[in-house]
Amino acid sequence: MLIPIIIIATTILIFGIVISEDNKEMKKTKYPSHEEMENLKFNYADMIWYLTQNTSLKHSEVYDIDGYSKDEFCIYLFEFYNKNLVWNRRFKCQPSYVIFGNENREGAKAKKSNKHYIIVFFESLIKKLENWFGDGFDITSIAGLNQYHFLSAKLNFPISKLIEQAILQFTFYHEFAHVIQFSVQDEFEREEHMAGSSQFDYQMHIEEFDADTFSGICLATHLFQFQQDWTPDNMTNTEIKNLISIITGSVMTYIISLPMCKTEFYTEECIHPHNSIRALNIIGVIITHLQEILNKRNIQIKLDLGEIFLEANNVCSHLLNNFGLTQELTSYQKILNENYENISKYHKKLQDELLNYDESAIKKWNLNN
Ligand SMILES: [Zn+2]
Repeated sequence: MLIPIIIIATTILIFGIVISEDNKEMKKTKYPSHEEMENLKFNYADMIWYLTQNTSLKHSEVYDIDGYSKDEFCIYLFEFYNKNLVWNRRFKCQPSYVIFGNENREGAKAKKSNKHYIIVFFESLIKKLENWFGDGFDITSIAGLNQYHFLSAKLNFPISKLIEQAILQFTFYHEFAHVIQFSVQDEFEREEHMAGSSQFDYQMHIEEFDADTFSGICLATHLFQFQQDWTPDNMTNTEIKNLISIITGSVMTYIISLPMCKTEFYTEECIHPHNSIRALNIIGVIITHLQEILNKRNIQIKLDLGEIFLEANNVCSHLLNNFGLTQELTSYQKILNENYENISKYHKKLQDELLNYDESAIKKWNLNN
């Protein structure tokens, strides 16, 4: 089983270089000042009222966080991600909002209505994270993941919070990428969901691939900042490898857990590319981009993609198993073993196609920022 995995990892490394272009307009737009960010205040009820008056959003779709027992966590996320949208205003997707929705769907969605951009985190996402990482979860007690004790010694908060954050960041940046795509489209109304329907649309595959790749770049940037700010200089290479593996392995777990229109491997079907392609893409993008950041800063760390891939896969397998997603795990492993050539081929096709995709969020991303 090891050989195909390493081949996939190497293939993604070769083709995983992300395209960037200077965006002068973006560079001209200043980041908000520290003071401006400090003074930002958001009110959930007021925001919902405004959006129901000015967009097609309906009250019945909205999740009432005031009535939910975990509302403290939701309010924290509400403020954190609305601030994040202000911080990212240079992408020219204003006005934009993050709210919570109660649709019976998985994950999150992005919506454009009357030139307003809305990212909706579904109640199911919050509940899923609570089920996975709530009281009693301790990754180091999972046999095979005991080596993550080193992180608990270095963090001043539980590792589960780090993993939860990584999944939320992935979700947010994936949807934000759709918002960026929508901002250059003329449509009055558009919507996109995290997990998808059965109708095949090649253009949608490209949009989804762009959104995942954009999210991977943002995660790599956060991972770099995290490593710089939160961990001492004396991290060994093994510890750095493990830090990257736990983050990417967790995001892969989340991607593989998303319901699909079809579990068996496919290429040109459904609205999203197959989860196995999405999971492998995210790890390739994170590692490749993180290596680029390290190189640019002359930090002498050489990331071994094959090695990190194996460890992230190890994390992912144990987490899927721990969360009772054994069918998903078996199917993912089978697909890796049997379809690695097709995965690499379709991945390459999507990457090539991104070059011609004018609305790409990645094209708006400036690697120098
Ligand atoms: Zn999407």
